[in-house]
Amino acid sequence: MFALTPGQPVEIGSGIWRLLALNPGMMSGPGTNTYLMADHDGLAVLDPGPADSRHVDNILRAAQSLNMPLTRLLVTHTHRDHSPAVALLRSHCRGPVIGPPILDDPLQDDSWAPDVVLADGEQIDLGKLRLRVIATPGHVSNHLCYLEENSGLLFSGDHLINGSTVVIAPPAGSMSDYLRSLRRLLDETISHIAPGHGDLILDPVLTIEATIGHRLAREEKVFQALNDQPDSLPADLVALVYNDVPTFLHGVAAFSLDAHLIRLAELQRAVRTEDGRYRPA
Ligand SMILES: [Zn+2]
Repeated sequence: MFALTPGQPVEIGSGIWRLLALNPGMMSGPGTNTYLMADHDGLAVLDPGPADSRHVDNILRAAQSLNMPLTRLLVTHTHRDHSPAVALLRSHCRGPVIGPPILDDPLQDDSWAPDVVLADGEQIDLGKLRLRVIATPGHVSNHLCYLEENSGLLFSGDHLINGSTVVIAPPAGSMSDYLRSLRRLLDETISHIAPGHGDLILDPVLTIEATIGHRLAREEKVFQALNDQPDSLPADLVALVYNDVPTFLHGVAAFSLDAHLIRLAELQRAVRTEDGRYRPA
């Protein structure tokens, strides 16, 4: 079902196509999913992807084959695998660039310059499709999801991806925010999820609940590791906490471990000492 061929638009719903970018990798899975959506007299592009002219050409070719001009560019968040193609597509688009506010953080796309900054609850009228913005800080603080209200399809960006867990890298990422944003989605009526990476998620409630459960189980493992090895630096705990994860992922896992430790300190279950070590409270 999942198109592993970049450049081939796949219709995933009425007036909604997915176009896979050419950036497979450890962090991006099969690659970034760009979504094309029927708009008034054209096509809105959600998460145009990395600054890769081949993918930009594929987007333009897809729009041409659908005979729809680009009307607006939307973004879930401004990591470099999601938004930099905006700068390359802007001159090909007749409408505005809309999405999250600019975030001052070294992991962000520094070319991001929205015409319109969106806030939680805003509606975007695309004609037959209607998007509602759901602010979902956590993976990163400026992250937005978009719920298509007629079908219940949620465009989840990197809040939820198919195939793995997402990295939470402080300070722009926050585990407490992430859990809060996941729980908030349980209040919405979501039929299925179109993630930023991987295939459609067809069991949204189960997936969201499992993701929350997975994070809380990891949190307990971090707490246990702190008890076993008090006064540790975060780097000393990675191998212990992620002993179920291949070692080549430990470098990335260290970011999420940091996020867990910060959350344990917020919950007053752990104490951070002046030299950056953690111990149980
Ligand atoms: Zn991301």
